[in-house]
Amino acid sequence: MNKVLSVNAGSSSLKFKLINMPKEIILSEGNIERIGKKDAIFNFNSINRKEKKILEIENHQIAINLVIKGLTEFGIIKNLSEIKGIGHRVVHGGEMFNDSVLINEDVIKKIEKISDLAPLHNPANLMGIKIFKEMLPDVDAVAVFDTSFHQSMSQEAYIYGVPYEWYEKYGVRKYGFHGTSHKYVSRRVEEFLDKKDAKIIVCHLGNGGSICAVRNGKSIDTTMGFTPLTGLIMGTRCGDIDPAIIPFISTKMERSINEIENDLNKKSGLLGISGVSNDSRDIEEGIKNGNKRCILAQKMFTRKIASYIASYHVLLGGADAIAFTGGIGEKSALTRAQIVERLAVLDVKLDMKLNDVRGDERLISANESKIKCFIIPTNEEVMIARDVVRLLNC
Ligand code: AMP
Repeated sequence: MNKVLSVNAGSSSLKFKLINMPKEIILSEGNIERIGKKDAIFNFNSINRKEKKILEIENHQIAINLVIKGLTEFGIIKNLSEIKGIGHRVVHGGEMFNDSVLINEDVIKKIEKISDLAPLHNPANLMGIKIFKEMLPDVDAVAVFDTSFHQSMSQEAYIYGVPYEWYEKYGVRKYGFHGTSHKYVSRRVEEFLDKKDAKIIVCHLGNGGSICAVRNGKSIDTTMGFTPLTGLIMGTRCGDIDPAIIPFISTKMERSINEIENDLNKKSGLLGISGVSNDSRDIEEGIKNGNKRCILAQKMFTRKIASYIASYHVLLGGADAIAFTGGIGEKSALTRAQIVERLAVLDVKLDMKLNDVRGDERLISANESKIKCFIIPTNEEVMIARDVVRLLNC
């Protein structure tokens, strides 16, 4: 058995899982938040030990060092040579990467080249790649892109109705995100259905959210676009809006485009509508207390999801399954029930008893439902580790 490290390096955070492959057993997992601050949080968990420390972590180098040292100090591995490969999550692969790839100098240059498409994320991902390479020079690493699963979309799905030169000169098109999650979940559904050419609609509903239409194991359309800002109403992101709102509000509020973009990313969605929270647990609490804006936020949230499911049902020529994943998709029975209720015209129906669960992987539709519905807890880290094993042959 081989140990594979799955890494997600953000601008001020680092998440990791050490996974025993091919059995896919999590040996250790953890995260570091608030890197660069005096009160950074270091969480480190293994089967028999849980550690949480608040300490100063000046930079990613120190954070990564803590993780590597922790793995041996906590006795999870005896020697660093036990790590046979590293998989790095990279947010944007542009049009250059339609699959995960073994990292070399050329790949690093290409990821740098497309960093203007994800200026907040790709540089942080690259920093993680470079520091791990310095610290573990003998361990090969693989880049797994959030966008690559959606590279199978056709032009009619990914081109926007804007001047075509924007695409040709600047790469303005739909890329889609959450690809690793959509791939993992759709593969699990194919296994449940025992059907490789299944038509599946995956709803990844977390703080960020997107839906993907999958046919023959390939993404044919998805709701996020050039950036993760568009599509569904999310925790703090606005989702689809009329772009003319931006110059209008810029004039009215005397705000710059950057400030408005920040509002659309961080102050909109469930938070913006409800004025209460971006967290669906708080929205549900607000609904119980009769808060009108929480009720409105939830209605808008489920309406948008149902209309995309219906649209993808048409694009796919009928769907075999709808899968729910992500924090809300996995844990909110209420949200799943309200979405499926809106889809009654498609003869899809939940079994309310089966749906009354948090985070279990299971079928939740009624026997008579024309489309099967599932909860599939996502596992992006395992998907990353699978790609490491596939590409490194380890
Ligand atoms: P994620 O981004 O996939 O980690 O999902 C995080 C989101 O899941 C939170 O912001 C909540 O909105 C939602 N969530 C987590 N736990 C629950 C729960 N028990 N019930 C409803 N929503 C939940």
